[in-house]
Amino acid sequence: MIELRGVHRHFQVGEQLVRALDDVALTIAGGEYVSIMGPSGSGKSTLLNVIGLLDRPTTGRYLLDGRETTELDDDALADVRARRIGFIFQSFHLVPRLTAFENVELPMVLAGQAPAARRARADEVLAALSLTDRAHHRPDQLSGGQRQRVAIARAMVMRPTVLLADEPTGNLDHVSGAEVLAALESLNAGGISLIVVTHDDEVAARSRRQIRMRDGRIVHDAPTPGSVR
Ligand code: ADP
Ligand code: MG
Repeated sequence: MIELRGVHRHFQVGEQLVRALDDVALTIAGGEYVSIMGPSGSGKSTLLNVIGLLDRPTTGRYLLDGRETTELDDDALADVRARRIGFIFQSFHLVPRLTAFENVELPMVLAGQAPAARRARADEVLAALSLTDRAHHRPDQLSGGQRQRVAIARAMVMRPTVLLADEPTGNLDHVSGAEVLAALESLNAGGISLIVVTHDDEVAARSRRQIRMRDGRIVHDAPTPGSVR
């Protein structure tokens, strides 16, 4: 459960104060499938970064599973992020010199897990994303859609409860984008919360709840018409 209350995120840029988030209140329950749309600069990425504990509100409260996160220090925050949150970016953010397998293994290495357990789990998530035969390829040896599926595998490996995707299909052709979306949706069907920032009406139409932002504010938040909730 994600609960934002009166959240502001301000950036001072020279003389100007940018209100990237301006009094945002938002509750997202476990297992939801939410899309976030809005013009460029409306605060979508900032909102996702705050939800994903990559950034902190300037003011306001953020409770994750009932726990106030704004009082946690950086180490505690990193720990919660590593265990609860999976992040997927438009530009994949894979480590170029590591293979698909090693990219997926990395969060478990950082968490200090034993090699045998890491291998078993990495093999499992790579198989779930139909990447077994690409496990030993580096990112530059993979298509865009395969790279994004590696990124999803890496995001899933620690069994997060929330998956955050910032324009995950933005760099992909239509077919690869559909594959990536299907992979995200099958994870959501397994119970994980899925929050997708998108410019694509088709993606938004598939979500079960649509949020629209403008100038750092949520200006629309409603179930997708015709969706089964
Ligand atoms: P979106 O993802 O909807 O395009 P962003 O959340 O990236 O929008 O940005 C919202 C506003 O905050 C924009 O005006 C952007 O320029 C500003 N902003 C975002 N991050 C920073 C930053 N680190 N420093 C200064 N301004 C920022
Ligand atoms: Mg953005």
